[in-house]
Amino acid sequence: MKTCTKCEYKKDACEFNNSSSTYDGLYSICKSCRSVYRKANKELIANGNKAYAKANKDKIKEYKAKYQQENRLTLNLISKDYNEKNIDSLKEYKKEYYQKNKSTIYLKVKKYKTDNKDYIKDCCARSYQKNKEKNRESRSLYHRLHVEHTKSYNKAYRINNPNLLKVHSVRRRASKLERTPTIMTELDLFVMQEAANLATLREQVMGGKWHVDHVEPLQGKTVSGLHNAFNLAVVPATYNLRKSNRQVSEPWYMEC
Ligand SMILES: [Zn+2]
Repeated sequence: MKTCTKCEYKKDACEFNNSSSTYDGLYSICKSCRSVYRKANKELIANGNKAYAKANKDKIKEYKAKYQQENRLTLNLISKDYNEKNIDSLKEYKKEYYQKNKSTIYLKVKKYKTDNKDYIKDCCARSYQKNKEKNRESRSLYHRLHVEHTKSYNKAYRINNPNLLKVHSVRRRASKLERTPTIMTELDLFVMQEAANLATLREQVMGGKWHVDHVEPLQGKTVSGLHNAFNLAVVPATYNLRKSNRQVSEPWYMEC
């Protein structure tokens, strides 16, 4: 039993909050007196807390980190339980927060992506390998369920991205034949994009269809080339189709 210094009633120990600064580990005033006091002095207490937090920033940070480290499992369970119970309100809150802070979030994400380029690349490659089959299945299911949408999307994409399509088609051929090196360097990607740009430019200036082609065919009869920066040429489509998978000693401009 303990006597409350405020109401002066003798009460059981469980009627007092725990306190780390008193000799018996309990507050000197009982729970109900404390609650009345806190309600009456809301602003004063809030200001006091703010000032304390400002003056003890590092101490609090350290304490929080230590607490989180020591209680990781319990905290995880609590937050999981909370998330499950408040799934709808959390969704709404996140949506609202995103709308309010769109531009800040965009800049943050951009900075994170630039700072962690290699890490992200590594993660993506691992996740791609891990979910290859699953992703393929869900993509194919989506396309089957949205035939019309896919058709019109693809048509618009082809019209808007003639250069990108050239990159895709040359890459597709290479991956089909498994002639893409496991690591594509920045130079490879840059040269491929530039080659596709050149093909489109030549189509505009010189007319006819132009392809990005592999100098050494990806599946030649004697030698097989790689899909990389050093094995690309922009050639007329007619030359590319005639050449097929033969290795031709004369470049395309000698034939024309
Ligand atoms: Zn009391």
